[in-house]
Formats: sequence, structure tokens, C-alpha cells
Amino acid sequence: MSAYRKAYIGHLKDVYENYRREVLDLQVKDGKIRTLSLLPGILSLFAFLAAFYIADGRILLLISAIVLLVAFIAIRYVQAVRFPRQMQDLQDCFREQYVCPNPNCRHFLGQTPYRELLFGGCPYCRREFTDVALARVMCPSCHTALIVKDDPSNIGKSLTCPACHKRDKYTNFRILPLDETDDTELDT
Ligand SMILES: [Zn+2]
Ligand SMILES: [Zn+2]
Repeated sequence: MSAYRKAYIGHLKDVYENYRREVLDLQVKDGKIRTLSLLPGILSLFAFLAAFYIADGRILLLISAIVLLVAFIAIRYVQAVRFPRQMQDLQDCFREQYVCPNPNCRHFLGQTPYRELLFGGCPYCRREFTDVALARVMCPSCHTALIVKDDPSNIGKSLTCPACHKRDKYTNFRILPLDETDDTELDT
């Protein structure tokens, strides 16, 4: 039996969720910094106004006003430069990681949420996706390569080979490298 094996994308769940969370964190942080930067701005305005009306300590008030104004502009400037860069870094990293696992494709999967990927598969190579991890093992009796669910509870279980119908402990099946280009699937 030859069939296109579903490609495992379980690792993309964290990639997607981390990206979403980090974008949100960055936006919230940016909003907070912009809001807080208003404080020295407003205080500066008050100090300027006070310097108009209060003769005593006018110099001190003017110096304070200028210092506060500079602080306001500096915070705004640094954030205006930093925020787009941080966002770009996040997006670049996401673009590199959130890709189709098919080595012949490796296409960026865009902003499609992880859950939707499981239903829709890859829009470029049409490979179907699964969140069930698979392992490739070799039957100790007939040496047929089998694709099985990669589950830690396999250890201690027995498996019946669909080719030679012999039953053996899972631990006696040799683990083979999972070749992504190998499309042959033997259901167990
Ligand atoms: Zn693809
Ligand atoms: Zn066998």
C-alpha cells in the first residue's frame, strides 16, 4: 500500500501560540510605554506654564520643563525605533519556523491558525497534516518497515506485524529514522 503519509505538525502548535502571545505582549508593552511617556510631557507643560506665572524659582522651573520635555521626546523616539524592529524580528522568526514540514515544500504557512492547519493541510503542496506523532520501526521477524504512532506508552506493549502477523514486544522493533520523503505507509 502506497499513500501520502500525513505530515506531523505537533511542534507548530507552540510556534503559533508563542508567536501570538509575543505579538500581544509587545503591543501591550508598546501601549504602556507610550502612555507613561505622556507623564513627563504633561509635567513639562505644567512647569512651562508655572514658569510664566511664578517669579520665584523661574529658572529652576524652566530647567525642569526642558529636562522633562527631553525625557518625553527621548522615550517616544526610542520606542518609535525599537517597536517596529522588535515586531520585525518576531515576524522573521515566525516566518522561518511556521513552515510546512514537507522537505520538498517548506512553504511559510502564513497566519493560518494551528487548529485550521490540521483540517486544511498545506495549501501549497496539499500534504495533509496530523498532530499524531509517528515513528518508523522495523519488524524483528520479517524486517518490514512499519509506521506506528509514536507514543511513550508503546514501551511495554506488543505489536502484531501486518506483514508476517508475528507478535513481538515493541522494544524488539528497531527504531528507524523517520524519512519524510518516504511516502509508503504500512498500517499497523
Ligand atoms: Zn507544503
Ligand atoms: Zn513482520
